[in-house]
Amino acid sequence: MLKDDCIFCKIIKGEIPSQKVYEDGDMLVFKDIEPKAKVHLLAVPKDHYKLLSELDKNRSAALCRIMQKLPQIALDNGCKNGYRLVVNQGDDAGQTVFHLHIHILGGENLPWE
Ligand code: 5GP
Ligand code: ZN
Repeated sequence: MLKDDCIFCKIIKGEIPSQKVYEDGDMLVFKDIEPKAKVHLLAVPKDHYKLLSELDKNRSAALCRIMQKLPQIALDNGCKNGYRLVVNQGDDAGQTVFHLHIHILGGENLPWE
């Protein structure tokens, strides 16, 4: 289910433009508007929920299919030597968009502090 006031739901519906790199029935992958690395993609499930604690059977199955596809998507988009996945969850993590998303970061050596 998509939500009218959610920016990522609007991107999924095509109401807000994005630089799409991959789409299937489970997810949309597009470039982050403020990249934090040379490659910075967002993999977004086509179901509106905020937190991993909201996973049910269907969402879990979809998220598993999504995770299985990320290595090839990362490779196809310039992550030749690895990549980092980040899932910000809630306030302490600084989550700003309340629709679950996986950051894919790479294309360069990433600092780890
Ligand atoms: P969060 O901080 O919630 O983990 O990540 C949200 C991400 O969404 C941020 O990296 C931000 O740059 C990105 N973002 C926010 N609005 C838009 C948008 O309209 N288009 C795109 N492509 N990315 C967005
Ligand atoms: Zn949403």
